[in-house]
Amino acid sequence: MQQSLTDRILADREQSSRPTGEWRRLMPQDSALVFNIQHYSLHDGPGIRTIVFLKGCPLRCPWCSNPESQRFGPEVSYVADKCIASMGCNRCALACPAAVSSGAEGTSPITLNHPELDRLDLTELTTFAKSCPSKALTLEGRPMTVDEVLDVVERDEVFFDRSGGGITVSGGEPLAHRTFLTNLLAGAHDRGITTAIETCGYAPYASLASAAEHLDNVLFDIKSMDDAKHREWTGFGNKRILDNFSRLCADHPEIPKLVRTPIIPGFNDSREGVAAIIDFLHGLGGREANITYQPLKYHRFGEGKYHALGRDYPMGSVKLDDDLFNAIRDDVLASGLAADALYHDDDPDDVDED
Ligand code: SF4
Repeated sequence: MQQSLTDRILADREQSSRPTGEWRRLMPQDSALVFNIQHYSLHDGPGIRTIVFLKGCPLRCPWCSNPESQRFGPEVSYVADKCIASMGCNRCALACPAAVSSGAEGTSPITLNHPELDRLDLTELTTFAKSCPSKALTLEGRPMTVDEVLDVVERDEVFFDRSGGGITVSGGEPLAHRTFLTNLLAGAHDRGITTAIETCGYAPYASLASAAEHLDNVLFDIKSMDDAKHREWTGFGNKRILDNFSRLCADHPEIPKLVRTPIIPGFNDSREGVAAIIDFLHGLGGREANITYQPLKYHRFGEGKYHALGRDYPMGSVKLDDDLFNAIRDDVLASGLAADALYHDDDPDDVDED
């Protein structure tokens, strides 16, 4: 890893791990922070899915396309293009003067003072975000109960029925919200909605085991078999993740498991690295254990969100070699584990990436 990239990753890790203000105490009972509910998704489980994004993740992958998912507390993002400060608006400054200053000339109309915002509690932060009339400010993470989430998800039932879709709980890391997640999945089943999670796998196995009782599909990230590299790039080694996946295969061979690897330049962009993952999956039973596999192509979709949160995009301008990705994709197709999506994926850009 080049020094400058290391510095950027460490700087972003520190920034994205700052504690946020008092919020847990103010959360309604049986709620979790939800930062998005996305409808009509085609890449996050079978059929048409509604994805519920829970806030908070233990890992700090510098390529994360949802950086607003990483911190456990609520925060505010700011999109300069929507700001109407040049027309005289100063409502956010009136709501919390210490959190706002004039933007540097030629860059953005205002600048948010994030350390100051991090001191606000959930109620104050909500008031601050709502003060903006032009939606330049967004509250990332609002408390929702299980029933509130399911009431929203259930509106898409007609699409689930026709396509074989359902709810996919993502994040952040859904397993970091053990009780809420288990109740959400069980509640979905009670309403006749099929379930899936997207997980980085880094959690106590008990959390995965209790979720698995109510899961129809699991989308599980295995990013690298190299423990040291995994630690260097994400903040944690891979042992717990690999152990969890092994135990899931042993305990629940009946659950379809789609393993995904985002192919990241400088981290895991090698045919040998992917071959090691494929060997691991074959060793767990492969298709017999209901395992399929999909490499995902690195993209920069999340870059603007880093800026909206007052962070620099840690990956800089790195690019993935298209030929290398295509070779990896061909290796996976030859492995016998390729997910259906790979056989129909004429445009490898058309995939998600965690
Ligand atoms: S309230 Fe919104 S539009 Fe007005 S200055 Fe603040 S961020 Fe800009």
